Amino acid sequence: MSRKMSRRKFLKVVAGSGVLGFGVMATGCKGKSPGGKGWIPDQYQGKGDFPVNLKGRVAISKHNPSIERDDEKCILCGQCVEACKNVMGVYGNYPLPLKKEIACVNCGQCVMWCPSGAITEKRNIKDVLAALDDEDKYVVVQTAPATKVSLGEEFGMPPGTSVGKKMAGALKEAGFDGVFDTCFAADLTIMEEASEFVHRLTSKKDEIPHLTSCCPGWVKYCEYFYPELMHNLSTCKSPQNMLGATIKSYYANKMGIDPKKIVNVSIMPCTAKKFEVRRKELQADELRDMDYSLTTRELAVLLKHKGIDLNKVPDTEYDSILGESTGAGRIFGATGGVTEAAVRTAYYLATGANPPADLLDWKPVRGMTAVKEATATIPGVGAVNIAVCHGLANAKTLLDGIKANGSKWQFIEFMACPGGCIGGGGQPKSQVASQNDIKLKRIAAIYREDTGAVKRCSHDNAEIQAIYKEFFGKPLSEKAEKYLHTTFVNRHDRLFD
Ligand code: SF4
Ligand code: SF4
Repeated sequence: MSRKMSRRKFLKVVAGSGVLGFGVMATGCKGKSPGGKGWIPDQYQGKGDFPVNLKGRVAISKHNPSIERDDEKCILCGQCVEACKNVMGVYGNYPLPLKKEIACVNCGQCVMWCPSGAITEKRNIKDVLAALDDEDKYVVVQTAPATKVSLGEEFGMPPGTSVGKKMAGALKEAGFDGVFDTCFAADLTIMEEASEFVHRLTSKKDEIPHLTSCCPGWVKYCEYFYPELMHNLSTCKSPQNMLGATIKSYYANKMGIDPKKIVNVSIMPCTAKKFEVRRKELQADELRDMDYSLTTRELAVLLKHKGIDLNKVPDTEYDSILGESTGAGRIFGATGGVTEAAVRTAYYLATGANPPADLLDWKPVRGMTAVKEATATIPGVGAVNIAVCHGLANAKTLLDGIKANGSKWQFIEFMACPGGCIGGGGQPKSQVASQNDIKLKRIAAIYREDTGAVKRCSHDNAEIQAIYKEFFGKPLSEKAEKYLHTTFVNRHDRLFD
């Protein structure tokens, strides 16, 4: 393509040659599976290789709060289609012509697969910098578990380096007024969700199988494609939003801060969190729970903009009274982590005792197998059959099976991204190793944090115990329902007649 040829003309020429389905195989591409290893797919790793296997691209609405594309950089390689269709089961899972909206669950996997860097997250760095500069604002930040084992990669550290305490120090140096840990909120989520699951098992069997709700990509997928299963979704907000609502209520009250002056920021491995931040259902006392969500990559840009080198930041503790976390809260970042954490506390709720060693190191729900199955035997409850699914294309297979034959599982964890949040669309990209190698290193770091924790179960978190005593009363109380639970929206008719 001549450098002088306009984009419009180029697209016209390509369209004229029947670009959809048109395949010119590049040298080095033949015989290799699409996607390959690393964020630049295998077939483009060789020197001189260039993607000419033109396949089109996913449509992205200008109103999409999570992702955007720089058309000048788009080379029509079709990798975003591969990710959206084959990994996430979204592209092509609805009829044409498009109806009320362009289907997107905001996961950002197309960002990870885009070899030219044309698709990126929609950045909120300037919004957060403006809030930090506004003396009238009280800017609070929280960091998700998966970011603690990946941010270091943006500062030259090897994959799988745990940098949670350095991140806390860097955020304080950057000027945030409160630095909290989303792992604390993961423990809070487990208190609510394990209680809800035990309640459903014993008294609301029509809401079994219980489907997890902490992943906004999966929740939106369910709302689009399986609205008949929405009543099976846990009503728990995600940890991000539970913490946001708690900061603007319990924390604001305790610290004497006007909640209207609080700006809640999250650091997430995820682009779907930018969508979740805007959901109208996620508010309390007429205040939205969260204000901005930055990806791990955006945080790296923000810190570098402020001249902060993570390598040089000393380890620093998160702020109390929302900073303590247990091993259970820390494993939320890996596929299977939510399940393992929930089972630990469900066991405690049913028996009054902490689970035995095998449930504290529950191998069947760990690892990268697409759908993992396990049975937990809980005295007084019996055998609980569980499935753990990551990658939404796998969810489609599993859910179609449930629709046809019913569910053999009582509890199912869904995470949109392959590997769970450690493989999220907001995570650092790497050209030096395959994505799976990096994901496994991040997962290993997460489980090291769990086994190294003094407390391994959410119900043992002293700050969690305090917040129930002082504010929420008990799990599923009226106040807990108000701040920590939510509703869902049927989006089916936006895609289907
Ligand atoms: S963000 Fe996810 S769902 Fe949306 S276009 Fe990209 S891959 Fe598809
Ligand atoms: S798996 Fe994690 S990173 Fe991916 S969409 Fe869900 S919450 Fe976001």
